[in-house]
Amino acid sequence: MPDRKHPIPAWPAGGMDSELDRLRDLFFPRLDSINIAGLLTDPICRNTVIVSSFGAESAALLHYIHALRADLPVIFLDTGHHFAETFEYRDALAERLGLELIIVRPEPSLIAEEDPHDQLHADDPNACCTIRKTFPLQDVLQRYACWISGRKRYQSATRAALPLIERDGVRIKLNPLAFWTRDDINAYFKAHDLPRHPLEEKGYASIGCAPCTAAAVEGGASRSGRWPQMADKTECGIHLGPDGRFVRNRSLQTGAGIALEARHRKA
Ligand code: SF4
Repeated sequence: MPDRKHPIPAWPAGGMDSELDRLRDLFFPRLDSINIAGLLTDPICRNTVIVSSFGAESAALLHYIHALRADLPVIFLDTGHHFAETFEYRDALAERLGLELIIVRPEPSLIAEEDPHDQLHADDPNACCTIRKTFPLQDVLQRYACWISGRKRYQSATRAALPLIERDGVRIKLNPLAFWTRDDINAYFKAHDLPRHPLEEKGYASIGCAPCTAAAVEGGASRSGRWPQMADKTECGIHLGPDGRFVRNRSLQTGAGIALEARHRKA
């Protein structure tokens, strides 16, 4: 992590268990003493995978983690709605860093059943994210004990209390950049001469699927351009919130999303 002098906020209450306590005590007993390299060598992190959208800031996480654990594969959720620029960027970055990509796509039969006209992103973005992101990720993560996300606290209000490590069902999730700021990210890109996502120069500060991504609101949070068609939606739903449910809206879960998840669990 780049050197910074300003204080880092305290851990949020709750959300820890004995395994997470052990990792915290070993690798970051204090929040000004964080040892991500050590954490990644712990036996519990042996079977770990990185999940990346290859969006605006992804190169920093990928480069940082790859330098510590070059053996970790990278999952890319191909929802079928990404920008062409994202595919080009993904492939260029994967080649430059020597990444092993695992490309995961939604179940075709579920798409045919739930989104036959390819309009779900407009009609019900939460349901669209559920079948195109949440379910495919849940399925592929079955193979892993631990996964890494690139989320940062500064990105949005819903991420403001993000911990470095958290429980995700039977798995552990690491958020190694949780305390990085936008300046840290920019400094890291510069220090390692990392390429920028081509859409950044058009004002896109956070880049997801094309129908659900706009340029960031001027002066707004970096994720302010996500889901412009749905003011309440803040997350795609691959991350658990403090109530143990997938976060999609400021008001957390919706009825449609809960029903889809229940059906998926039974399947
Ligand atoms: S971000 Fe939009 S297009 Fe992508 S899965 Fe979610 S609702 Fe569908």
